[in-house]
Amino acid sequence: MSAISSPAGDTKASLAATPMVDPFGRSISYLRVSVTDRCDFRCVYCMSEHMSFLPKQDLLTLEELDRLCSAFVAKGARKLRITGGEPLVRREIMTLFRSLSRHLASGALDELTLTTNGSQLAKYAAELADCGVKRVNVSLDTLDADRFKALTRWGDLARVMEGIDAAQKAGLKVKINAVALKDSTEGEWEAMTRWAHGRGMDLTFIEVMPMGEIDGERIDQYLPLSRLRGEIMSRFTLTESSHGTGGPARYMEVKETGGRLGFITPLTHNFCESCNRVRVTCTGTLFMCLGQEDATDLRKPLRASESDAALYAAIDEAITRKPRGHDFVIDRRTQGPAVGRHMSMTGG
Ligand code: SAM
Ligand code: SF4
Repeated sequence: MSAISSPAGDTKASLAATPMVDPFGRSISYLRVSVTDRCDFRCVYCMSEHMSFLPKQDLLTLEELDRLCSAFVAKGARKLRITGGEPLVRREIMTLFRSLSRHLASGALDELTLTTNGSQLAKYAAELADCGVKRVNVSLDTLDADRFKALTRWGDLARVMEGIDAAQKAGLKVKINAVALKDSTEGEWEAMTRWAHGRGMDLTFIEVMPMGEIDGERIDQYLPLSRLRGEIMSRFTLTESSHGTGGPARYMEVKETGGRLGFITPLTHNFCESCNRVRVTCTGTLFMCLGQEDATDLRKPLRASESDAALYAAIDEAITRKPRGHDFVIDRRTQGPAVGRHMSMTGG
């Protein structure tokens, strides 16, 4: 496919692109975009083994994704994270990165980044760096090849490791995200911490969130980070870090390794007060909160006209509905997921 040629959002951006501020006074400066719901893994906490994916024609084209992202940039988004599903399995995805990099060059955007499972990083790391990507989040829950296979069902740890090598070689700063899981993380957090910090990578633990139907029970996977942190503190000396990415992670410095550990605790600690982000799915549905069902269709206004006026109006209206926070809960009494959609729809 040829490069994305018509950045419609640019020329019309100045028409009516006002900043996004929600009813609670929070400025929206961060957009996460899921570019596909498909993935080459089937992580047990994320998907069921036999997923039905969206028909290709329902997806926004790369040109439409570019225009949508550019509209958000015009409305004050300073940071764009490309996610999925697995973003790097979307065909011709590099044309989108290449095209969006113009916002970095113009200074309209501070950061263009992605979250990936790492399987395709060896192939794309150098090109991502060339597009101005500086940092990448790689999701990795275990260093044990067999356990990795069991957790991802289809993944190959060696390939992910090659991807991480390639990313670091290309000069990308890598952060590792690990979902905290009862069986694996409890026995592996120390090895993972030493490994990540030994390679100059931050490591962030994330609590499992009740999203979408999966094959197992959430309660069997759920490891509260308060418990994990307690365990870590019995072995390592942790001090509160001033490091912040404007996101939900709380960082601690580890004296023994000289590295940083992050904790994302949607269930045991509510991080919503400082939420600066919204999410768009690969079909152009805008979710104002990861943990709520309320959403707005942006594909219709996007396709309705070449002007971005209707799109801006739809975004503005949606932002007035951004809720104060989420309602996640995992316990034995609460049946089923808090939100029906899978994480792969809105991205992590
Ligand atoms: N495929 C890419 C990857 O795995 O990094 C990007 C999409 S994935 C949905 C983004 C992040 O969400 C990953 O770090 C993954 O571990 C996390 N995730 C998926 N399902 C989750 C769940 N139910 N609770 C918490 N995190 C989840
Ligand atoms: Fe795929 Fe990422 Fe979900 Fe795993 S967490 S199945 S890699 S989308």
